[in-house]
Amino acid sequence: SDVLLDVRHLKKYFELRGGLLHRVTGHVKAVDDVSFSVRRGETFGIVGESGCGKSTTGRTLLRLLEPTEGQVVFDGVDLAKLGREEMRQKRREIQMVFQDPYASLNPRMTVADILAEPLRAHGITDRAEVDRRVSQILTACGLSAEQARRYPHEFSGGQRQRVGIARALVLNPKLIVADEPVSALDVSIQSQILNLLQDLQGEFGLTYVFISHDLSVVRHISDRVGVMYLGRMVEVGDAETLYNRPLHPYTQSLLAAVPIPDPTQRRQRVLLQGDVPSPANPPKGCAFAQRCPQATDHCHQVRPELQEIEPDRQVACHLYEVS
Ligand code: SF4
Ligand code: MG
Repeated sequence: SDVLLDVRHLKKYFELRGGLLHRVTGHVKAVDDVSFSVRRGETFGIVGESGCGKSTTGRTLLRLLEPTEGQVVFDGVDLAKLGREEMRQKRREIQMVFQDPYASLNPRMTVADILAEPLRAHGITDRAEVDRRVSQILTACGLSAEQARRYPHEFSGGQRQRVGIARALVLNPKLIVADEPVSALDVSIQSQILNLLQDLQGEFGLTYVFISHDLSVVRHISDRVGVMYLGRMVEVGDAETLYNRPLHPYTQSLLAAVPIPDPTQRRQRVLLQGDVPSPANPPKGCAFAQRCPQATDHCHQVRPELQEIEPDRQVACHLYEVS
């Protein structure tokens, strides 16, 4: 199958507790019935404002957070059904790159040791094999043998992210989930890291889920994009088509809020108004209804489902519903 990752009706709810007895008083629906699929070798971007559930979605894919409900079918295997040890084995094939590599790199280990550790943890102990794999990945990530003897604090932010990427790649994974991997970096360094990710994708045949709040970064790197709002996927499609012709009113507002460099190309601005509702108390109908310029009574009453409305384009909005 050309689909590597198939996410079906994924939910992640967090309990809210309060009162004297610390009882469960409600749930935050951080991820609320999200479905999408990712094809082999592509980059699937997940974009949305902070708090929309994109990081939680990413972590739940790897079961760094346990899903409340739903399926994550990776290469034909439903990850939610795996036991602890089976899942640990599977993690070789799915790795994560974080926004802040420094927080996840052991400051007392050299880069070479940081890269060797996951290999040893997965039973690759042959010294020559470990050295060969570490040096192959260092080279691929643009790091030298001399740099491999240094410690994380001796590196700049961009180089540290190279180390974070190298560590994610050392086990030869199929899928990388990258959560805001360039958001902490200067703009000039961002493009170097994005280019590195693209080169590595070609070299190692990787598939990416790329999570970011930054619309331009997501457009630059993604083949297909999913737009999240309040724990839901509201629009999914081919990246260029979606950016050129956004269909969901939320996607339209998001893109209109991005400054357009060419003043002759000004498009009509539909500015986002109002706050995102609380995921602890989500509205009954469409989650975007309070901010949507086209909302009707029906929108406030009935939640629109994500539907395929044209080839490779899914939208959750009553405006496009085919009866
Ligand atoms: Fe707007 Fe209604 Fe579409 Fe929601 S369903 S985005 S409120 S038009
Ligand atoms: Mg986040």
